[in-house]
Amino acid sequence: MSLGEFDLIAKYFVRPAGQGPRRAVVGNGDDCAVLAPAAGMQLAVSTDALVEGRHFLSTVDPARLGHKALAVNLSDLAACGARPLGFTLALTLPRVDEAWLAGFARGLLDLADEHDCELVGGDTTAGPLAIGVTVLGEVPVGGVLLRSGARPGDELWVSGHPGEARLALEAFRGTLHPSLPAEAFDATRLAMECPQPRVALGLGLRGLATAAIDVSDGLLGDLGHILRRSGVSADVFADALPLSRWLAARPRHEQLDCILAGGDDYELVFTAPPERHAEVLALGAQLGLVLSRIGSVGHRDGSAPRLRLWEGAAPLANRWVSFDHFRQPSPSTPAPNPGEAP
Ligand code: ADP
Ligand code: MG
Repeated sequence: MSLGEFDLIAKYFVRPAGQGPRRAVVGNGDDCAVLAPAAGMQLAVSTDALVEGRHFLSTVDPARLGHKALAVNLSDLAACGARPLGFTLALTLPRVDEAWLAGFARGLLDLADEHDCELVGGDTTAGPLAIGVTVLGEVPVGGVLLRSGARPGDELWVSGHPGEARLALEAFRGTLHPSLPAEAFDATRLAMECPQPRVALGLGLRGLATAAIDVSDGLLGDLGHILRRSGVSADVFADALPLSRWLAARPRHEQLDCILAGGDDYELVFTAPPERHAEVLALGAQLGLVLSRIGSVGHRDGSAPRLRLWEGAAPLANRWVSFDHFRQPSPSTPAPNPGEAP
């Protein structure tokens, strides 16, 4: 006989005493979890859902899916400079598949432990596979990083190597010419399925960055949110975009498509005053994370476009649109025969 709802929760999602972080005053198993933010701290809360066929295929490794479900949420905390405290999990499952559940819980809880983030509760129901995570984090009162703080004169930065997830997705879709070598496919697939949330970077950017956002829908589109919220313009230098080893080997149009509008990157785009340039670089060195200065923030003058792209000294027409769930086909659903790629 398969496990019932409560046995399933107890077996896979309630940690034995002494295992995993213990943060909540009242934890998993009661009607509510109770958390006590430390004095001088505010709670930061964010939710993201992952839906089968939309964000992932049923064939994805369950441990990677568990990792990603939490990673995309931790990425939102990172963008706000918040330290993870705990999370809840709303899980909708078509059936009880214990091998799947064991893998999913391992990927999820390993990442949670890495970030000292406690699973404090959730909900488990039967239905089409879907995963909802809500994370809770803390930031010092008044210290949250917002999208709205960019100032004219600031430098524009990005972490890591955006674009890899999109390269893997296009390999799955079979659209790449030339096709992606096996080694590049494995590496970029890892970026797509197992993104690393930039939590430590977000913490380091408190008091240093003026604005930040995590890149989920594409660099240009997400940067656009900073520009709109901050009421500023930006110049982005295509030459300065950080190309991963795998993207560097691709045709230029593909490099730009992947980096500028790929999405699913979970890197941080942020702005900081130019006099803090060396501190930003030192933070990257300390974290072992490449931080690239990719542009400048400017004033908005009248009807001038908010975002100007440059390839060397030549303007580059912005032909990229960012992802919108209700306007475009999903960016991250590999189709149609992912098992056969690349
Ligand atoms: P209620 O009906 O009171 O909302 P449930 O019966 O849904 O509570 O859940 C019982 C307990 O198990 C609660 O403490 C809830 O937070 C926890 N829980 C349920 N599903 C999960 C899950 N997927 N992961 C972690 N905790 C869960
Ligand atoms: Mg209840």
